[in-house]
Amino acid sequence: MRRSWLLYSLRNNAVVCFACKLFSSKARKLTTEGHSDWSNINSSLRGHECSPDHTQSLLQLRELDIHLKKNLTIDHQELTLLEAEEERWCNVLKHLISITLSLASRNLSFRGSSQVLHVQDNGNFLKEVELLAQFDPMNHLTKIKDESSCMHYLGQQTQNELMQIIST
Ligand SMILES: [Zn+2]
Repeated sequence: MRRSWLLYSLRNNAVVCFACKLFSSKARKLTTEGHSDWSNINSSLRGHECSPDHTQSLLQLRELDIHLKKNLTIDHQELTLLEAEEERWCNVLKHLISITLSLASRNLSFRGSSQVLHVQDNGNFLKEVELLAQFDPMNHLTKIKDESSCMHYLGQQTQNELMQIIST
């Protein structure tokens, strides 16, 4: 009988049930340091594989295997969300660099007397941000309404850093 759940530990010179080690909350020799009583190994393994706890662990392992093959694990979903977030922030950065280059190439001032979006006198940089946001409804910039610009990487410090990085 092939036991795909059984692993041999060279270091401990013992066998371990991989499924129970992952999913079982019961601490047994087969799930902790491993079973190394070789004279009774057959009866021990037969007893273990008939236990309800092992059956449950094996089902969970097979379910995990199926989900991994179909990319349905939480890790995969988290990774997809992370990649979408990364792409969104790259787009925000591209917009901010374009605005910085556009204003700098025309020798226009960046700031006004206010650092808040959607108010008079908030300067050319934030006015350009507001303008671009109208044409990109999925962008970070449209999500900002009346809050301070420095809360969303649009403030003076970010503008200075962008100019510094672009100039070097
Ligand atoms: Zn087991």
